[in-house]
Amino acid sequence: MDCVFCKIINKELPTKVIYEDEEVLVFNDINPQAPIHLLLVPKKHIASIMEINEDNAKVMKRITKVAQDLARQNNIDKKGFRLVVNTGEEGGQTVNHLHFHLLSGRFMTWPPG
Ligand code: 5GP
Ligand code: ZN
Repeated sequence: MDCVFCKIINKELPTKVIYEDEEVLVFNDINPQAPIHLLLVPKKHIASIMEINEDNAKVMKRITKVAQDLARQNNIDKKGFRLVVNTGEEGGQTVNHLHFHLLSGRFMTWPPG
């Protein structure tokens, strides 16, 4: 499958791994929008949050736990951070493999634009 995140997960594209377990891979965004900009990605190819269902929902809980651990490790658990899932064309999704952006290290604005 021609999916850039699957290639990263399969180590076909060399990427510095920030965190890895059986279900989740975390790496830095190639085009960071904040001092900390991590991508939390399920290893299984799930196209978007619209494809989460009873059978694969466990990974959502796992990603939440990984985000909490990364927030503590980066000392942003109290200062704050933003966890973003862009979905579909108008939602700004450019890679069709579910991913959570973890952004921090600066004040976030709202509305996000
Ligand atoms: P989306 O726009 O789908 O929410 O986010 C996709 C993100 O993936 C973008 O922030 C983009 O910078 C990042 N990205 C795209 N290709 C690569 C890549 O090859 N390596 C890494 N590390 N990030 C990528
Ligand atoms: Zn994929």
